[in-house]
Amino acid sequence: MLSDCLMAGPPRHIPLSIPYVGDLEKGFVQECLDSGWVSSAGAFVTRFEEAMVRETRRKHAVAVASGTAALHLALLVSGVERGDEVIVPTLTFIAPANAIRYVGARPVLVDADPTTWQLDVDLVERFLRTRCKRKDSDVIDQKTGRRVSALLPVHVLGHPVDMEPLQQLAGEFELVVIEDASEALGSTYKGDPVGSRGDVSCFSFNGNKIVTCGGGGMLLTDDPDLAERARHLSTQAKKDPVRYIHDEVGYNYRLTNVQAALGYGQIASLQERVEARRRVGARYRQAFAGVPGVSYMPEADWAVSNRWLSTIALDPEHCRMEPVRVVEEMAASGIETRPLWQPLHESIPYRDSIYVGGTGADTIHASALCLPSSFQLTEDEQGHVIGAISRLLTD
Ligand SMILES: *Cc1c(COP(=O)(O)O)cnc(C)c1O
Repeated sequence: MLSDCLMAGPPRHIPLSIPYVGDLEKGFVQECLDSGWVSSAGAFVTRFEEAMVRETRRKHAVAVASGTAALHLALLVSGVERGDEVIVPTLTFIAPANAIRYVGARPVLVDADPTTWQLDVDLVERFLRTRCKRKDSDVIDQKTGRRVSALLPVHVLGHPVDMEPLQQLAGEFELVVIEDASEALGSTYKGDPVGSRGDVSCFSFNGNKIVTCGGGGMLLTDDPDLAERARHLSTQAKKDPVRYIHDEVGYNYRLTNVQAALGYGQIASLQERVEARRRVGARYRQAFAGVPGVSYMPEADWAVSNRWLSTIALDPEHCRMEPVRVVEEMAASGIETRPLWQPLHESIPYRDSIYVGGTGADTIHASALCLPSSFQLTEDEQGHVIGAISRLLTD
């Protein structure tokens, strides 16, 4: 029978993390299209910026074309110069390291703290105290002779970096703090929204993030001059919009009104989106608590993660399959899972960079498996994912 054939069909594809587009944002995008204001000017850009200012408790926001563009501008306006060194975690998506290179600076890659999987702040301190020397108001890396000018913590997988000791170091050494909060919109650190503490913070609204514009990003700060300068650079440094007078080399990094309409509509449901991902995370954590050798990624007691991408660790002593094999096996049954990013100190573009640390990031990388975490993931589908992984690892 036809119904039997349908029932017996292949199981539905379960993706890792896909956008959820609700009616509100559909309405806003339609409004945008109907109005003809589809390009880089229009009311939704401002409304989206204002909504992000409220969410992150910052004073100023500049909407841009991507999270990477936000990071690039953040480095430019923070005074990071060609030849400087910037401290960044080795365990991250590659975008922040690339942005550091765009301004001609060098990343100093720092290992991950095994208790949070985030930038190891003790290692940052050790690097600054033992390898660097103050010279006037500068911090000089004595081995390379280069100036260290900024800290670029990345809140990986939605979990915040331990910001307080990092901010203390930044104060003592007079370093700028640029937060890459791309994955952590809606997370909190000691009760504060992630992205509210650094001198500048950056977000991404790429398709797989918790709130998406299709593509997009934003830079936030409390400093009106930094914001103004970032906005200026994002619009080709156009000083006079009538006569087209430009006063320096700028960029076309603006977000369009259509993209902003989508993002602005999604921000309204941010809490719901975070709660859904946290529910998904809680179910994974509970289900895998009974599977030997499998643990859900840590969450510090001072943190509330948005659980953007639920990730488990497979202990090689107990699990008979490593994450890359699990990814292949799961793909065969229609379930998308993924290993974590290759640590940057092993990546082709950055393996010659300064690396501070040991095997923390490598150990996490070798064991981590990212699981389907979409807003729309049903309990049924999640049960299917949990069952398939448990069978693979223990049968
Ligand atoms: C997604 C992401 C970015 C970059 O965002 P794009 O909008 O894709 O340019 C930067 N940093 C981290 C940690 C990310 O996850």
